[in-house]
Amino acid sequence: MTALIIDGKQIALDTQIEIKRRVSALSARGVMPGLAVILVGDNPASHVYVSNKVKSCGAVGMHSVLEQYPADLSERQLLERIAALNSDAAIHGILVQLPLPAHINEHAVLEAISPTKDVDGFHLLNAGALMTGQPRLRACTPYGVMKMLEHSNIAMRGAHAVIVGASNIVGKPMAMMLLQAGATVTLCNSKTRDLAHHTKQADIVIAAVGRARMITGDMIRPGATVIDVGINRDEAGKLCGDVDFESVKSVAGAISPVPGGVGPMTITMLLMNTLEAAEKALLS
Ligand code: NAP
Repeated sequence: MTALIIDGKQIALDTQIEIKRRVSALSARGVMPGLAVILVGDNPASHVYVSNKVKSCGAVGMHSVLEQYPADLSERQLLERIAALNSDAAIHGILVQLPLPAHINEHAVLEAISPTKDVDGFHLLNAGALMTGQPRLRACTPYGVMKMLEHSNIAMRGAHAVIVGASNIVGKPMAMMLLQAGATVTLCNSKTRDLAHHTKQADIVIAAVGRARMITGDMIRPGATVIDVGINRDEAGKLCGDVDFESVKSVAGAISPVPGGVGPMTITMLLMNTLEAAEKALLS
C-alpha cells in the first residue's frame, strides 16, 4: 500500500485562487486588504519568513507593508507602532514576527495587537474564542491543516485524532479545531508515556514536535492519515519533518510531505485571515 500524498503546495495554490477572487470583490467595493509585518532584529530565518509573507500578499493582490527595526528597539516603541497600526484603516492584519529580542515581552506585544487585526490568531481573545467554539481569527498552521484535511476528504467527525506536540501555536489550537469538527482528540506532549500506543490507535496523526523523523511506520495504524507539521534539518542538513516519510508512506492511507505540505498552507492561511479581517471590517 502506498499512501495518497496530500499536496499542500497544490491545495495552497487552489486556496489562493479563492483568496484572489475575494480580494478582487472587496477591491471593487473600495477596500484593499492590507497586512503589516513587523520585524525586530536581524534573525536570518525571520528575514526569509517575512519577505515570503510580503511576497505572497502581492501574489493575491493584497497591500502589505514591512516595518523593520533594529534589535535595540524598545518595547515601548514597538507598542507605539502597534497602537498606530491598530488605528490605521488601510491595515487589516498585523503580524509581529517571532522570536522577539529577549528584552521585549512577547505576551505584552501579542496582547497589544487589536484582536480584530490579529492575523496570527495568537491573541488571548482569539484563542479563547476558538476554545469556546466561536472561532474568529484562527492560528494559521492548524487552520491550514484543517483545510488540507477537508480538501483531501478525510473524515473528521467521529475519527480519533492524535496530536503529537501541544504548543500554543500549533498543537493546542489544532486540538480545538479537530474537536469542533467532531473528532475525538488525544493531545500528547513530552511527558506522554508510550507515545506509539496512542499514535497506533489514531485515524489521524498530526505531528508537531520539532524532532526529525520521530514518527515511524511502526507507530501508525494501516490506512491512517498523517499530517507532518515539523520543520527540521537532519544530520546531513536536509530539510525534513517530524515524520519518517519513507517508512510511514507504506503504512498510512494519506500523508503530507515536508517540504510541500503544511508549510505552504500556513502562509496561505495568513492571507486568508487578512482577507477575513478586511471582510469583517467592511461589515462593521
Ligand atoms: P514547540 O513550541 O517547541 O512545542 C513542541 C511540542 O512538542 C511541546 O508541546 C512539547 O511538549 C512536545 N514534545 C516535545 N518532545 C516530545 C515527544 N518526545 N513526544 C511528544 N511530544 C513532544 O514547537 P512548535 O512551535 O509547536 O513547532 C513544532 C514543529 O512544527 C517545529 O518543527 C516547527 O518548526 C514546526 N512548525 C511548522 C510550521 C509550518 O508552517 N509548517 C508552523 C509552526 C511550527 P511539552 O509541552 O511537554 O514541552
